[in-house]
Amino acid sequence: MDRTDRNVRFFGKDGQDRLRAAKVTIVGAGGLGSHVCQQLAYLGVGEIRPIDYEELDITNLNRYVTAYADDPAPGSRKVDLCERLIQRIDPTIEVRKVHAPLRSAEAFEAIQTADYVFGCLDNEGSRLVLTELCSAYTRPYFDLATEIIPGDEPIYGGRVCVAWDGNGCLVCLDEIDLHEAQHDLANSAARRDVRAIYGVVAEDLDSKGPSVVSINGVIASLGVTEFMLMVTGVREPRRLLTYRGHLGIVAANTDNPVPDCYYCRGVRGCEATAGTERFIIDQ
Ligand SMILES: [Zn+2]
Repeated sequence: MDRTDRNVRFFGKDGQDRLRAAKVTIVGAGGLGSHVCQQLAYLGVGEIRPIDYEELDITNLNRYVTAYADDPAPGSRKVDLCERLIQRIDPTIEVRKVHAPLRSAEAFEAIQTADYVFGCLDNEGSRLVLTELCSAYTRPYFDLATEIIPGDEPIYGGRVCVAWDGNGCLVCLDEIDLHEAQHDLANSAARRDVRAIYGVVAEDLDSKGPSVVSINGVIASLGVTEFMLMVTGVREPRRLLTYRGHLGIVAANTDNPVPDCYYCRGVRGCEATAGTERFIIDQ
């Protein structure tokens, strides 16, 4: 018996071996990504690649399972915190951290050569880039999102969208705001210039909504469970799982995606000819 015994009782030795062989890239090492790193390490994934260029902020300490009170904030790279946690859980896991923005050659390489990709970002533009990139390189893409709308009757929850076979993605399942995505992509270069000039942390320029550990944990757990079932061959992942916390519901979407989706079909498997390098910004 070894540390994976209780896993193997669920999905077998073959399943555990497949997890061990998997290279998984996690884009965003924040509220969602830190949970995903932790759970992939406990599952026994062989290689974990967190991507994030930011440092810890004091307001992250309410929800990052990678961070502790005595970690310098700022002064701690989020990817270093992921690496520390993963290695304390299981030092045999390979950690390949990428301290760079999503739209960099280094991050793109870590995504294109991964077996699975998690998107744990709070930015529609980044979601659109990852949707196209993962389709072009046929990488299964798990996109995680949470939402909290405070008020007298608050609305809170999130969703997991899995795109893997060319039959559904964020765009054709209508789970992305394309206007906001285009706005994000058009403005990120300008925002970076502002940061370079004034030394402002990029995140401070964006609006900050509420974010809490337990809701992030629900969404991360739903996403990692779909990943686990897919990798081990228990069943195919569900395309879309929606958590409506205020109603106490997790629902699987049964709507059919819009047909002839450019992101599912037009660029799928095109690799370099898809031209995704156009998204890379010179650092
Ligand atoms: Zn699609």
